[in-house]
Amino acid sequence: MSIVVVSDLSKVYPVAVKEPGLKGTLSHFFRRTYRSIEAVKQVSFEIQPGEVVGFLGANGAGKTTTLKMLTGLIHPSAGKVRVADHIPFRRKPAFLQQITLVMGQKQQLIWDLPALDSLKINAAIYGISDKDYRQRIGELTEMLSLQGKLNQAVRKLSLGERMKCELMAALLHRPKVLFLDEPTLGLDVNAQVAVREFLREYNQRYGATILLTSHYMADITALCQRVLVIHKGQLIYDGGLDDLINTFAPYREVQVELAHPMSETELSFYGEIEAVEGLSVRFCVQREALTRTVAKILAELEVLDLSVTDPPVEEIIGRVFSTGVGS
Ligand code: ATP
Repeated sequence: MSIVVVSDLSKVYPVAVKEPGLKGTLSHFFRRTYRSIEAVKQVSFEIQPGEVVGFLGANGAGKTTTLKMLTGLIHPSAGKVRVADHIPFRRKPAFLQQITLVMGQKQQLIWDLPALDSLKINAAIYGISDKDYRQRIGELTEMLSLQGKLNQAVRKLSLGERMKCELMAALLHRPKVLFLDEPTLGLDVNAQVAVREFLREYNQRYGATILLTSHYMADITALCQRVLVIHKGQLIYDGGLDDLINTFAPYREVQVELAHPMSETELSFYGEIEAVEGLSVRFCVQREALTRTVAKILAELEVLDLSVTDPPVEEIIGRVFSTGVGS
């Protein structure tokens, strides 16, 4: 049974419109006019227990709004949402025990206190027994390599260490469903990898379900087999990461190592040239022409090596974000 069920979920934000100048301010004061922003439009998807799903979209696409509806922080304007068999907006304790929300740009730990103090507060809020508390702190400290860091004031920790402590605080009650909004935002590459590895291990060890947004495609490719892509509030893709490439990238890159140098004019006969470096040539070839083009290159040119690759996933996603479609 699905642990997250979203159907026709929409969110409209009313935004007060104010004309500039004194006249505008006065009329805004007495008679406000509003316009609507449709942040999320009839989005539907389901997530199975234990799945790790990437949630992709450009800035302002509606990711955070969706996550807020999934965690019950805001009420949907229309549609249905169920998480772990609860209606999030009711924010029942039994629901809150099963979920967590981590926002990379917001922190819950108290800045001037050691992380351990905030963790103790969380343990009290969630009614975690002393035994479980000690056992979980030990386990998470080891998984996150935070030995010796929990007694230090949070403000003295590095950004990466702080994020790890944030994750610890968010996971102390052992939630089943993790909503992670940019958990690696601003971290250096090592810390990003550490957080990513931790999430993978956490998912495997506890079978937790994870819905993750990240601007770093490396997070998504490392963790998620399935992705949801949202564009201007609408879900435009739900499927495997591999198929995303097939859906949105109608071309492949063909890398050829030539035995002898050739001019670009001669090479252009075989396809659209992306780059030429000495004897290495990279062509961009439409998918439907791939077999024909490769056969022609192999038959007519003296080739030392030939490989066909997908374009980098960042490039594809960038194109989807800027246009909403793949081509
Ligand atoms: P980002 O990656 O930049 O965080 P996002 O995909 O999370 O973007 P949202 O924060 O969900 O996007 O915003 C979606 C749209 O709704 C944007 O146009 C944003 O300006 C608007 N919006 C978000 N919150 C509010 C609000 N409280 N009131 C009015 N408009 C809002």
